[in-house]
Amino acid sequence: MKSLVRKNILKVTPYKAGKPIEETKRELGLKEVIKLASNENPLGTSPKALAAIRKAVTGVNRYPDSQGFYLKRKLAEKLSLSPENIVLGNGSDELIDVIIKTFVENDEEVLTADITFLEYEIISRVNGRSVATVPLKDFRFDLPEMKKKITGKTKLVFIANPNNPTGTYVSKKELVGFLKDLPGHVLVVLDEAYDTFIDVPDFPRGTDFLKNNNVLVMRTFSKAYGLAGLRIGYAVGAPVLTSYMECVRQPFNVNLLAQAAAMAALDDDDFLRKTRKMVLEEKQYLSDALRRLKVSYVPSVANFILVDTAQSGVEVFQAMLKEGVIVRDMQQYGLNRYIRVTIGTRRENEKFVKAFKKVLKK
Ligand code: PMP
Repeated sequence: MKSLVRKNILKVTPYKAGKPIEETKRELGLKEVIKLASNENPLGTSPKALAAIRKAVTGVNRYPDSQGFYLKRKLAEKLSLSPENIVLGNGSDELIDVIIKTFVENDEEVLTADITFLEYEIISRVNGRSVATVPLKDFRFDLPEMKKKITGKTKLVFIANPNNPTGTYVSKKELVGFLKDLPGHVLVVLDEAYDTFIDVPDFPRGTDFLKNNNVLVMRTFSKAYGLAGLRIGYAVGAPVLTSYMECVRQPFNVNLLAQAAAMAALDDDDFLRKTRKMVLEEKQYLSDALRRLKVSYVPSVANFILVDTAQSGVEVFQAMLKEGVIVRDMQQYGLNRYIRVTIGTRRENEKFVKAFKKVLKK
């Protein structure tokens, strides 16, 4: 009975994930399908992480370390922070939930951009919190406008840096300007899911802004580290913030295999270097191909590109599926002409370009 459901849940539109490869093969009777829809790592997973998973798998009769002791210690070393600065999560998705539950009271508000990672709004609403949004300007977070929108009720500001689905970023100067004289009741979350792909000098690393005690940074192992299927991410902040997040998260939120894999992945510099090189080179390849096709796109510092198809993005998405290429339509974001394409390997990108040419001609 619908009347049993909490009122704010009735208003939630569920998150629509990228279409899985197996489902597409099954539904369309295709043998070969590539997925460029969820910003995953097309090179797979670090061989060191795979070996660590194999080794750890015989231990799954035991609960995982609820404190994530070794992983936090390793991350802390890498980031020149202390383990108390770190909270581990079942992907950064879970951390968004933990952050909202820890910091936003019933009558307080979450502030973000109108076109950004949808989970900020969905999880806020599931928790019964209201959300205010500020339109992007030229596909970028408009921090001066967002600052003007801050009221006595604003508690949390989500900034995806780089932004998903646009691939744009806020610069160091813009972030410093935003944080300067920010009211003391506001906490800023910098979501750096794509930080490993950055190749611009004026990108602000969130970890440089922790001393203000009003900034949290989120990162994930789902993208460059190739561990999306295991679900692991982390948040960093001042212990006065993270210690309360520790009270809110589930005791065994990060599973045993994910902890082992993440530890090993952090040691695999070679895999990370290869991934970064591939993404940067292939982004150039895809951008060049799009320019040749006279298709406009938003320049991206992440591992995906937002592409203006100049027609219905949903129809392009469906036509691309028939060609065995899964991209992401942007209808949920209100970008009806657009698709988002994850940077793949050269072979995948060639397949994308070939299929896209064919679909555009129809
Ligand atoms: N933040 C952003 C900006 C993202 O794009 C994503 C992944 N789509 C996430 C967070 C969630 O990542 P995770 O797999 O760690 O939950």
